[in-house]
Amino acid sequence: MTTAEKFAKYVLPTYAQFAVAPVGGQGTLLWDAEGNRYLDFCSGLATCTLGHGSNALSKAVTKQAAELIHCSNLYQINKQAELAECLVEECLQLPGKVFFGNSGAESNDGLIKLARRFGHARPDQNGNARYEVLTFKNSFHGRTLGSLAATGQAKVQEGFDPLLPGFRHLEFNDPDELAAAIRPETAAILLEPIQGEGGIRLAERDFLLAVQRVCKENDLLLLLDEIQCGLGRVGGMTCWRRIAPELKPDGVSWAKALGGGFPIGSFWISERTIDDDATPLFSVLGPGSHGSTYGGNPLACAAALAVLREVLDNDLPHRALDLEVHIRQEISSWNHPGITEVRGMGLLLGIGLRATNLNIPDGVVPSLHLSRNLAAAGLLAPPAGGDTIRLLPPLTVSDSEVKEALEVFKAGLDALL
Ligand SMILES: *Cc1c(COP(=O)(O)O)cnc(C)c1O
Repeated sequence: MTTAEKFAKYVLPTYAQFAVAPVGGQGTLLWDAEGNRYLDFCSGLATCTLGHGSNALSKAVTKQAAELIHCSNLYQINKQAELAECLVEECLQLPGKVFFGNSGAESNDGLIKLARRFGHARPDQNGNARYEVLTFKNSFHGRTLGSLAATGQAKVQEGFDPLLPGFRHLEFNDPDELAAAIRPETAAILLEPIQGEGGIRLAERDFLLAVQRVCKENDLLLLLDEIQCGLGRVGGMTCWRRIAPELKPDGVSWAKALGGGFPIGSFWISERTIDDDATPLFSVLGPGSHGSTYGGNPLACAAALAVLREVLDNDLPHRALDLEVHIRQEISSWNHPGITEVRGMGLLLGIGLRATNLNIPDGVVPSLHLSRNLAAAGLLAPPAGGDTIRLLPPLTVSDSEVKEALEVFKAGLDALL
């Protein structure tokens, strides 16, 4: 049986898959068993920041695998402590504490649990625990029952009701609706500084500041989902600082770029005090309140440490900014009738398609159609929403690879005119 046949027979078909079956990779390149070569501008969906076959990452993983792969969180894992220190001191540069899980959805579940505990610690005026988390339309927070309820996209929730209660989805970038939406039961606001799956849509600076103001006025937690936009890709280790540096979040979630392809997720909780007794926020998730068997195990933490060291020590966020300028200049020089705009920051870019000017077969999603054609031409560039193609190369991508990818992209667009 071929790989495709085994997929058809044995693997639950929950993904709209492309006819691409990579078996190896180096840097930005992937290749399949037949030797077809692909420029990987998907990077495992903004995950493989260092590209494929990174020496630093594979060395760290093989060394740690030989030393100690797993150990329970009942005991002290030194690499976990080191990784937490790096995240707090070097990446976030805000005092607080970190919890480790294995994925993005789990990290957001952790933030939702934080909001619920906070709502118990800080009940409403009648003494009732607050529990509601406000999120935004078009957001994506994951596929667990908690994180899918937080997600602002009906297609993610379809058929899974009754959903976990306690969420409302507001209009993104609408400070007036937000200010009017707060109820006695509201405990937190959760948002992506750049909506990733929703089509690379930036939170506006004024909106983020309004969110912070509303949180202050109503004693709410400000929670940021930086799972796709965090840890370097947008030109800084934190995405929100690229938009509104004065923002002080209460919680932040990460995954994707954290492990560079090794499964790991994490969330951070601020140490800011929540009452007159100087109780730090992180203390609401105390002993016994949360856990994960695999979370923060030695192997995953060694991988993440190697990734963060490479990103920080080689100033890869800066490289992402330089390439953004270059990519924007090149695309705008095309004046292409099939493109509306380029959105995003650094190497988290979304190219908006003007589908009315493109020949798309009836009933086919424009972004998916172009993305499939590009894959067949050797460029992996994933869709986001119906009318956006993402460019998410590794931060180590070379100038010539960017040039080649943009040529393939333009040819793919031209072919639809
Ligand atoms: C990918 C993603 C998630 C979910 O992460 P998983 O590791 O797939 O569970 C959550 N939020 C955002 C913004 C994401 O991009």
